[in-house]
Amino acid sequence: MNSTNLVNVGMSFPMSYRISVDKAIGITTTIPIEIVYAAGYTPIDLNNIFICNDGPDALVDYAELKGLPRNTCAWVKGIYAATKKTGIKKIIGVIQGDCSNNHALLEFFQTEGIDVIPFSYPHDRDKDFLHKQLVSLAKILEINLDKAHHMKLTLDKVRKTVHEIDRLTWEDNKVTGEENHIWNVSTSDLMGDYGFFEKKAIEFLEEVKARPRLDYETRLGYIGVPPICSDLYSFLDGLGVHVVFNEVQRQFSMPYKTHTLTDQYIRYTYPFDILYHIDDIKKELEKRKIDGIIHYVQSFCHRQIYDRLIRKYIDIPILTLDCDRPGQLSGSMRTRIEAFAEMLKNIR
Ligand code: SF4
Repeated sequence: MNSTNLVNVGMSFPMSYRISVDKAIGITTTIPIEIVYAAGYTPIDLNNIFICNDGPDALVDYAELKGLPRNTCAWVKGIYAATKKTGIKKIIGVIQGDCSNNHALLEFFQTEGIDVIPFSYPHDRDKDFLHKQLVSLAKILEINLDKAHHMKLTLDKVRKTVHEIDRLTWEDNKVTGEENHIWNVSTSDLMGDYGFFEKKAIEFLEEVKARPRLDYETRLGYIGVPPICSDLYSFLDGLGVHVVFNEVQRQFSMPYKTHTLTDQYIRYTYPFDILYHIDDIKKELEKRKIDGIIHYVQSFCHRQIYDRLIRKYIDIPILTLDCDRPGQLSGSMRTRIEAFAEMLKNIR
Protein backbone atom coordinates (compact mmCIF):
# COMPACT_ATOMS: atom_id res chain seq x y z
CA MET A 1 0.00 0.00 0.00
CA ASN A 2 1.26 3.51 -0.81
CA SER A 3 1.94 5.71 2.16
CA THR A 4 -0.53 8.24 0.73
CA ASN A 5 -4.05 7.08 0.10
CA LEU A 6 -6.84 9.28 -1.27
CA VAL A 7 -10.29 8.53 0.06
CA ASN A 8 -13.09 10.38 -1.71
CA VAL A 9 -16.09 11.45 0.32
CA GLY A 10 -19.24 12.03 -1.71
CA MET A 11 -22.51 12.88 0.04
CA SER A 12 -23.95 16.30 -0.62
CA PHE A 13 -20.71 18.22 -1.00
CA PRO A 14 -17.46 17.07 -2.53
CA MET A 15 -14.63 16.48 -0.10
CA SER A 16 -11.78 14.07 0.15
CA TYR A 17 -9.43 12.78 2.80
CA ARG A 18 -5.82 12.71 1.69
CA ILE A 19 -4.37 10.20 4.10
CA SER A 20 -0.68 9.95 4.68
CA VAL A 21 -0.65 6.63 6.50
CA ASP A 22 2.54 7.47 8.39
CA LYS A 23 0.95 10.57 9.88
CA ALA A 24 -2.64 9.34 10.29
CA ILE A 25 -4.13 8.39 13.63
CA GLY A 26 -7.47 6.62 13.36
CA ILE A 27 -10.20 7.43 15.86
CA THR A 28 -13.28 5.34 16.57
CA THR A 29 -15.20 8.09 18.36
CA THR A 30 -14.58 11.73 19.23
CA ILE A 31 -11.41 12.31 21.24
CA PRO A 32 -9.41 15.51 21.89
CA ILE A 33 -8.20 16.05 18.32
CA GLU A 34 -6.46 19.26 19.44
CA ILE A 35 -3.70 17.06 20.88
CA VAL A 36 -3.45 14.99 17.68
CA TYR A 37 -3.22 18.03 15.41
CA ALA A 38 -0.81 19.84 17.75
CA ALA A 39 1.50 16.80 17.68
CA GLY A 40 1.64 16.95 13.87
CA TYR A 41 -0.61 13.95 13.22
CA THR A 42 -3.82 13.76 11.19
CA PRO A 43 -6.93 12.49 13.02
CA ILE A 44 -9.07 10.30 10.78
CA ASP A 45 -12.53 9.32 12.00
CA LEU A 46 -12.89 5.73 10.81
CA ASN A 47 -16.69 5.97 11.03
CA ASN A 48 -16.61 8.66 8.33
CA ILE A 49 -14.24 6.65 6.12
CA PHE A 50 -16.62 3.69 6.43
CA ILE A 51 -19.94 5.38 5.83
CA CYS A 52 -18.70 7.66 3.01
CA ASN A 53 -17.18 4.75 1.11
CA ASP A 54 -18.85 3.96 -2.22
CA GLY A 55 -19.88 0.55 -0.90
CA PRO A 56 -20.22 0.57 2.90
CA ASP A 57 -22.27 -2.63 2.88
CA ALA A 58 -19.37 -4.44 1.19
CA LEU A 59 -17.11 -3.24 4.02
CA VAL A 60 -19.45 -4.86 6.55
CA ASP A 61 -19.32 -8.09 4.49
CA TYR A 62 -15.51 -7.87 4.48
CA ALA A 63 -15.40 -7.58 8.30
CA GLU A 64 -17.75 -10.56 8.67
CA LEU A 65 -15.52 -12.61 6.36
CA LYS A 66 -12.61 -11.69 8.63
CA GLY A 67 -14.45 -13.14 11.60
CA LEU A 68 -16.50 -10.33 13.18
CA PRO A 69 -19.89 -11.76 14.20
CA ARG A 70 -23.04 -11.05 12.22
CA ASN A 71 -24.86 -10.07 15.40
CA THR A 72 -22.46 -7.22 16.20
CA CYS A 73 -23.04 -3.52 15.50
CA ALA A 74 -22.34 -2.73 11.83
CA TRP A 75 -20.50 0.49 12.78
CA VAL A 76 -17.88 -1.63 14.54
CA LYS A 77 -17.49 -3.85 11.49
CA GLY A 78 -17.25 -0.77 9.28
CA ILE A 79 -14.54 0.71 11.50
CA TYR A 80 -12.58 -2.53 11.26
CA ALA A 81 -12.83 -2.68 7.46
CA ALA A 82 -12.04 1.05 7.05
CA THR A 83 -8.87 0.59 9.11
CA LYS A 84 -7.72 -2.36 7.04
CA LYS A 85 -8.57 -0.73 3.71
CA THR A 86 -6.78 2.55 4.49
CA GLY A 87 -3.78 0.80 6.04
CA ILE A 88 -3.84 3.00 9.17
CA LYS A 89 -1.41 1.65 11.75
CA LYS A 90 -2.12 3.77 14.81
CA ILE A 91 -5.45 4.27 16.60
CA ILE A 92 -6.58 6.19 19.65
CA GLY A 93 -9.14 3.94 21.28
CA VAL A 94 -11.62 5.03 23.92
CA ILE A 95 -11.63 2.36 26.61
CA GLN A 96 -14.06 4.13 28.96
CA GLY A 97 -16.94 6.26 27.70
CA ASP A 98 -17.63 4.50 24.42
CA CYS A 99 -18.85 0.90 24.09
CA SER A 100 -17.69 -2.62 24.87
CA ASN A 101 -17.93 -3.57 21.18
CA ASN A 102 -15.32 -0.98 20.30
CA HIS A 103 -13.28 -2.02 23.31
CA ALA A 104 -13.14 -5.60 22.02
CA LEU A 105 -12.33 -4.32 18.53
CA LEU A 106 -9.28 -2.52 19.92
CA GLU A 107 -8.00 -5.83 21.28
CA PHE A 108 -8.64 -7.35 17.86
CA PHE A 109 -6.53 -4.59 16.29
CA GLN A 110 -3.68 -5.16 18.73
CA THR A 111 -3.41 -8.78 17.58
CA GLU A 112 -3.07 -7.51 14.01
CA GLY A 113 -0.10 -5.23 14.67
CA ILE A 114 -2.02 -1.96 15.01
CA ASP A 115 -0.74 0.40 17.69
CA VAL A 116 -3.63 1.27 20.04
CA ILE A 117 -3.31 4.32 22.31
CA PRO A 118 -5.89 4.17 25.13
CA PHE A 119 -7.99 7.16 26.18
CA SER A 120 -10.69 7.26 28.90
CA TYR A 121 -13.56 9.58 29.72
CA PRO A 122 -14.35 9.39 33.45
CA HIS A 123 -17.69 7.77 34.17
CA ASP A 124 -18.41 10.30 36.96
CA ARG A 125 -17.23 13.30 34.87
CA ASP A 126 -14.38 13.92 37.28
CA LYS A 127 -12.38 16.86 35.94
CA ASP A 128 -9.06 15.87 37.54
CA PHE A 129 -9.28 12.41 36.00
CA LEU A 130 -10.01 13.86 32.57
CA HIS A 131 -7.19 16.38 32.88
CA LYS A 132 -4.76 13.55 33.67
CA GLN A 133 -5.98 11.68 30.58
CA LEU A 134 -5.32 14.75 28.43
CA VAL A 135 -1.82 15.09 29.89
CA SER A 136 -1.17 11.40 29.32
CA LEU A 137 -2.31 11.49 25.70
CA ALA A 138 -0.17 14.57 25.05
CA LYS A 139 2.82 12.82 26.60
CA ILE A 140 2.36 9.71 24.44
CA LEU A 141 2.25 11.92 21.34
CA GLU A 142 5.32 13.77 22.67
CA ILE A 143 3.95 17.25 23.14
CA ASN A 144 3.20 19.54 26.03
CA LEU A 145 -0.52 20.08 26.79
CA ASP A 146 0.02 23.86 26.41
CA LYS A 147 0.61 23.31 22.72
CA ALA A 148 -2.74 21.53 22.47
CA HIS A 149 -4.43 24.44 24.29
CA HIS A 150 -3.04 26.73 21.64
CA MET A 151 -4.49 24.42 18.98
CA LYS A 152 -7.86 24.63 20.79
CA LEU A 153 -7.99 28.37 20.04
CA THR A 154 -7.46 27.63 16.34
CA LEU A 155 -10.07 24.86 16.22
CA ASP A 156 -12.59 26.92 18.24
CA LYS A 157 -12.59 29.36 15.33
CA VAL A 158 -13.13 26.56 12.80
CA ARG A 159 -15.95 25.05 14.86
CA LYS A 160 -17.63 28.44 15.11
CA THR A 161 -18.42 28.22 11.38
CA VAL A 162 -20.32 24.99 12.03
CA HIS A 163 -22.16 26.54 14.98
CA GLU A 164 -23.35 29.20 12.56
CA ILE A 165 -24.46 26.49 10.09
CA ASP A 166 -26.41 24.94 12.96
CA ARG A 167 -28.03 28.27 13.84
CA LEU A 168 -28.99 28.82 10.20
CA THR A 169 -30.73 25.43 10.33
CA TRP A 170 -33.06 25.97 13.26
CA GLU A 171 -33.36 29.76 13.46
CA ASP A 172 -33.30 30.93 9.84
CA ASN A 173 -34.51 27.71 8.13
CA LYS A 174 -31.84 28.02 5.46
CA VAL A 175 -29.88 24.79 5.96
CA THR A 176 -31.44 21.36 5.48
CA GLY A 177 -31.34 18.68 8.17
CA GLU A 178 -29.03 16.58 6.01
CA GLU A 179 -26.57 19.43 5.48
CA ASN A 180 -26.65 20.09 9.20
CA HIS A 181 -25.96 16.41 9.87
CA ILE A 182 -23.01 16.26 7.46
CA TRP A 183 -21.30 19.42 8.68
CA ASN A 184 -21.70 18.54 12.34
CA VAL A 185 -20.69 14.90 12.00
CA SER A 186 -17.59 15.96 10.06
CA THR A 187 -16.31 17.98 13.01
CA SER A 188 -15.20 14.79 14.77
CA ASP A 189 -11.93 14.98 12.78
CA LEU A 190 -12.46 18.16 10.70
CA MET A 191 -11.89 15.93 7.66
CA GLY A 192 -8.26 15.47 8.65
CA ASP A 193 -7.42 19.02 7.49
CA TYR A 194 -8.90 21.81 9.58
CA GLY A 195 -7.70 24.59 7.26
CA PHE A 196 -9.40 23.03 4.25
CA PHE A 197 -12.49 22.27 6.33
CA GLU A 198 -12.77 25.90 7.44
CA LYS A 199 -12.43 27.15 3.86
CA LYS A 200 -15.22 24.83 2.66
CA ALA A 201 -17.45 25.77 5.62
CA ILE A 202 -17.03 29.51 4.93
CA GLU A 203 -17.88 28.95 1.25
CA PHE A 204 -20.97 26.99 2.31
CA LEU A 205 -22.05 29.79 4.66
CA GLU A 206 -21.78 32.33 1.85
CA GLU A 207 -23.90 30.14 -0.42
CA VAL A 208 -26.53 29.55 2.25
CA LYS A 209 -26.96 33.21 3.17
CA ALA A 210 -28.13 33.93 -0.38
CA ARG A 211 -30.81 31.22 -0.21
CA PRO A 212 -34.51 31.84 0.49
CA ARG A 213 -35.92 30.39 3.71
CA LEU A 214 -36.87 26.73 3.36
CA ASP A 215 -40.55 25.99 3.78
CA TYR A 216 -41.48 23.01 5.99
CA GLU A 217 -44.59 21.91 7.86
CA THR A 218 -42.98 20.11 10.80
CA ARG A 219 -39.86 20.54 12.95
CA LEU A 220 -38.10 17.38 14.07
CA GLY A 221 -35.24 16.49 16.43
CA TYR A 222 -32.93 13.55 15.72
CA ILE A 223 -31.31 11.95 18.75
CA GLY A 224 -29.06 8.93 19.13
CA VAL A 225 -25.96 7.86 17.22
CA PRO A 226 -25.69 9.03 13.59
CA PRO A 227 -27.78 6.92 11.20
CA ILE A 228 -26.22 4.10 9.21
CA CYS A 229 -28.97 4.30 6.57
CA SER A 230 -28.28 6.63 3.67
CA ASP A 231 -31.64 8.21 2.85
CA LEU A 232 -33.30 9.09 6.15
CA TYR A 233 -32.83 12.85 5.81
CA SER A 234 -33.87 13.02 2.15
CA PHE A 235 -36.94 10.92 2.93
CA LEU A 236 -37.96 13.24 5.79
CA ASP A 237 -37.32 16.24 3.58
CA GLY A 238 -39.71 14.81 0.98
CA LEU A 239 -42.39 14.57 3.68
CA GLY A 240 -42.04 18.25 4.56
CA VAL A 241 -40.21 17.51 7.80
CA HIS A 242 -37.33 19.80 8.78
CA VAL A 243 -34.69 18.21 11.04
CA VAL A 244 -33.62 21.19 13.16
CA PHE A 245 -31.60 19.31 15.77
CA ASN A 246 -29.02 16.56 15.34
CA GLU A 247 -28.15 15.78 18.92
CA VAL A 248 -24.96 13.68 18.88
CA GLN A 249 -23.61 15.22 15.68
CA ARG A 250 -23.94 18.68 17.27
CA GLN A 251 -22.01 17.44 20.28
CA PHE A 252 -19.09 16.54 17.98
CA SER A 253 -18.86 20.26 17.14
CA MET A 254 -18.22 21.16 20.82
CA PRO A 255 -21.15 23.61 20.95
CA TYR A 256 -20.36 25.28 24.31
CA LYS A 257 -17.99 28.16 24.95
CA THR A 258 -15.11 26.90 27.10
CA HIS A 259 -11.67 28.16 28.03
CA THR A 260 -9.75 24.93 28.60
CA LEU A 261 -9.60 21.53 26.97
CA THR A 262 -10.67 19.90 30.22
CA ASP A 263 -13.82 22.02 30.38
CA GLN A 264 -14.53 21.42 26.71
CA TYR A 265 -14.44 17.63 27.00
CA ILE A 266 -16.30 17.53 30.34
CA ARG A 267 -19.18 19.46 28.80
CA TYR A 268 -19.24 17.19 25.72
CA THR A 269 -22.16 14.87 26.54
CA TYR A 270 -21.61 11.82 24.31
CA PRO A 271 -19.34 9.70 26.56
CA PHE A 272 -21.36 10.36 29.69
CA ASP A 273 -24.63 9.15 31.20
CA ILE A 274 -27.97 9.45 29.44
CA LEU A 275 -29.44 11.90 31.98
CA TYR A 276 -26.64 14.32 31.05
CA HIS A 277 -27.69 13.94 27.40
CA ILE A 278 -31.34 14.46 28.32
CA ASP A 279 -30.60 17.79 30.07
CA ASP A 280 -29.01 19.09 26.89
CA ILE A 281 -31.75 17.62 24.66
CA LYS A 282 -34.57 19.21 26.67
CA LYS A 283 -33.03 22.68 26.45
CA GLU A 284 -32.60 22.37 22.70
CA LEU A 285 -36.11 20.98 22.13
CA GLU A 286 -37.56 24.09 23.70
CA LYS A 287 -35.20 26.56 22.07
CA ARG A 288 -35.66 25.02 18.60
CA LYS A 289 -39.47 24.61 18.93
CA ILE A 290 -39.44 20.93 18.03
CA ASP A 291 -42.68 19.00 17.40
CA GLY A 292 -41.33 15.45 17.72
CA ILE A 293 -38.24 13.27 17.88
CA ILE A 294 -36.78 10.36 16.00
CA HIS A 295 -34.70 8.30 18.39
CA TYR A 296 -32.34 6.30 16.20
CA VAL A 297 -30.98 3.09 17.69
CA GLN A 298 -28.36 0.93 16.04
CA SER A 299 -29.01 -2.82 16.01
CA PHE A 300 -26.90 -4.68 18.58
CA CYS A 301 -25.98 -1.44 20.39
CA HIS A 302 -26.27 -1.16 24.17
CA ARG A 303 -27.68 2.35 23.74
CA GLN A 304 -31.02 0.83 22.70
CA ILE A 305 -31.71 0.40 26.43
CA TYR A 306 -31.78 4.20 26.81
CA ASP A 307 -34.98 4.40 24.77
CA ARG A 308 -36.97 3.65 27.92
CA LEU A 309 -35.36 6.54 29.82
CA ILE A 310 -35.71 8.95 26.93
CA ARG A 311 -39.43 8.18 26.81
CA LYS A 312 -39.65 8.55 30.58
CA TYR A 313 -38.06 12.02 30.71
CA ILE A 314 -38.95 13.62 27.37
CA ASP A 315 -42.56 14.51 26.94
CA ILE A 316 -43.08 14.97 23.20
CA PRO A 317 -43.90 12.37 20.49
CA ILE A 318 -41.01 9.98 19.83
CA LEU A 319 -40.49 7.47 17.04
CA THR A 320 -37.80 4.86 17.73
CA LEU A 321 -36.05 3.64 14.57
CA ASP A 322 -33.81 0.60 14.61
CA CYS A 323 -31.46 -0.04 11.70
CA ASP A 324 -28.82 -2.71 11.14
CA ARG A 325 -26.75 -2.34 7.98
CA PRO A 326 -25.89 0.51 5.59
CA GLY A 327 -28.31 1.08 2.72
CA GLN A 328 -31.71 2.59 2.14
CA LEU A 329 -34.67 2.62 4.51
CA SER A 330 -36.81 -0.51 4.30
CA GLY A 331 -40.47 -0.33 3.25
CA SER A 332 -41.68 -0.84 6.80
CA MET A 333 -39.41 1.92 8.14
CA ARG A 334 -40.73 4.30 5.48
CA THR A 335 -44.32 3.48 6.44
CA ARG A 336 -43.64 4.10 10.12
CA ILE A 337 -41.90 7.43 9.39
CA GLU A 338 -44.74 8.54 7.10
CA ALA A 339 -47.34 7.73 9.78
CA PHE A 340 -45.30 9.59 12.42
CA ALA A 341 -44.87 12.66 10.18
CA GLU A 342 -48.61 12.66 9.46
CA MET A 343 -49.42 12.45 13.17
CA LEU A 344 -47.08 15.39 13.94
CA LYS A 345 -48.77 17.51 11.28
CA ASN A 346 -52.19 16.70 12.69
CA ILE A 347 -51.32 17.69 16.26
CA ARG A 348 -49.55 20.95 15.35
S1 SF4 B 1 -23.56 2.24 17.59
FE1 SF4 B 1 -23.38 1.50 19.69
S2 SF4 B 1 -22.39 -0.51 19.55
FE2 SF4 B 1 -22.10 0.54 17.59
S3 SF4 B 1 -20.10 1.54 17.78
FE3 SF4 B 1 -21.65 3.05 18.37
S4 SF4 B 1 -21.85 2.86 20.63
FE4 SF4 B 1 -20.78 1.01 19.86
